[in-house]
Amino acid sequence: TIGMIAIDVDHQIHAGTSTNGLNHKIHGRVGDSPIAGAGGYADNEVGAAVATGDGDIMMRFLPTLLAVEAMRNGKSPAEAAEVGIRRIRKHYKTFSGAVIAVNRLGQYAAACHGMREFPFVVSNPTQAIHVETVKCLP
Ligand code: ASP
Repeated sequence: TIGMIAIDVDHQIHAGTSTNGLNHKIHGRVGDSPIAGAGGYADNEVGAAVATGDGDIMMRFLPTLLAVEAMRNGKSPAEAAEVGIRRIRKHYKTFSGAVIAVNRLGQYAAACHGMREFPFVVSNPTQAIHVETVKCLP
């Protein structure tokens, strides 16, 4: 899955996803990526989040909605991304996935589980496009 969050010149916040889905998926499977709150969610007043990973598990917890609502309640993007991941991990100890969160100021972070680390790409007016990596939760 590719999840993308963009803040435009008018401060509108956008989240989008594109995915192949899972290997050997059942024909007609929709997955989490196109479902608002699961694969991605955006609110101009707060920020946005996108997710990748075991969609059949992750979509049950709406991790990107959880992350945006956590930021609405004052959490940093790093804390908010972890909220989405921790909620799933509580029920599925071995799931693999990641959540990226960006607030309306353009501050960003990611959290992940089920792998060692998770790379993501950042581009903004003060930083040339580059890759950052976050260590995953144990
Ligand atoms: N979340 C996607 C799905 O389950 C897969 C992925 O992120 O790689 O369809």
